[in-house]
Amino acid sequence: MLAQAEIEESTVDDVRNLIIVGSGPAGYTAAVYAARANLKPLVIEGVTSGGALVTTTEVENFPGFPDGINGPELMDNMRKQAERFGAEFITDDATRVALEGPVKSVWVGDLEYRGKAVILATGSAWRPLHVPGEQELLGRGVSSCATCDGFFFRNENIVVVGGGDSAMEEATFLTRFATKVTIIHRRDEFRASKIMAERALGNEKIEVLWNSVVTEVLDGGGRVGGVRVKNVANGEERDLPVAGVFVAIGHDPRSGLFRGQVELDDDGYVKVAAPSTRTNIEGVFAAGDVVDHTYRQAITAAGTGCAAALDAERFIAAL
Ligand code: FAD
Repeated sequence: MLAQAEIEESTVDDVRNLIIVGSGPAGYTAAVYAARANLKPLVIEGVTSGGALVTTTEVENFPGFPDGINGPELMDNMRKQAERFGAEFITDDATRVALEGPVKSVWVGDLEYRGKAVILATGSAWRPLHVPGEQELLGRGVSSCATCDGFFFRNENIVVVGGGDSAMEEATFLTRFATKVTIIHRRDEFRASKIMAERALGNEKIEVLWNSVVTEVLDGGGRVGGVRVKNVANGEERDLPVAGVFVAIGHDPRSGLFRGQVELDDDGYVKVAAPSTRTNIEGVFAAGDVVDHTYRQAITAAGTGCAAALDAERFIAAL
């Protein structure tokens, strides 16, 4: 990795070929392809580099690893692969962008980096419940990441809120530690894939509260002591004593930085001219979970990252 000073020297006055914003599977895969095409991409990685998979342990569904691979190791490998071919990295957040016109600018604080093309790959973030107690007890029993925090809930009762694949995955994973996992879901059926739902429902440590929502996270002396649950079918409320609340109700794209510049859909995902990765602005491409609200997988993020690099390469070659 180049020192910040070296990067500043080499970029502030230059117009680079390509700037990639984000460092998950989409950003790093784009960096591998762009670097191998001699574009010397600059990857603005974010303060926490490596994306969502650095918060997980085993990744069992990324092709090429028959025995699975540890998430942080996979991301570190991708980064090293991009670095080997000449990608440069800044481990900080992009704070402002100006994407119109032939020269695009991305700022990190006061430092401006300019490029002919930009790939947006900032991923998505978990969606909170917005109920009393949730923010106050975040990190003290409220979590959005079972793989990060499950270990702290050994022999405890916990709840998982949600009905999609992530809720099923989190609940099933958490049974490794918890005595009992209660899934709280506002409808009377899951929207998760059949295989994930069956796996959760078949687990004897998992119970489901259907037609139910969490209305409050209860303070049990500085930590989560329980949740107040309302049955939306009959209006009944009751308190469930639990030590942990895992929120798994969805994600929001990290596209705030680009709002007002690239076109977003109603949910804030960056719109692209599929199957390409072109946004509505010439020379600006987008990949991964900031675009994708359907698949949200490491391999699909990597796939679109590859496509974005190829699109950017062709765009630059035609200038
Ligand atoms: P992300 O991985 O979210 O990366 C986005 C990056 O952009 C982050 O590094 C972030 O710091 C950076 N960023 C954001 N804002 C800025 C900014 N302003 N400036 C610079 N950088 C910025 N998928 C699988 O296929 N298999 C699994 O087993 C699996 N397990 C998972 C387990 C967990 C707990 C989670 C949360 C997800 C899991 N996923 C899994 C999903 C997978 O991780 C995502 O689909 C994938 O990481 C999306 O990649 P991405 O590159 O689009 O975004």
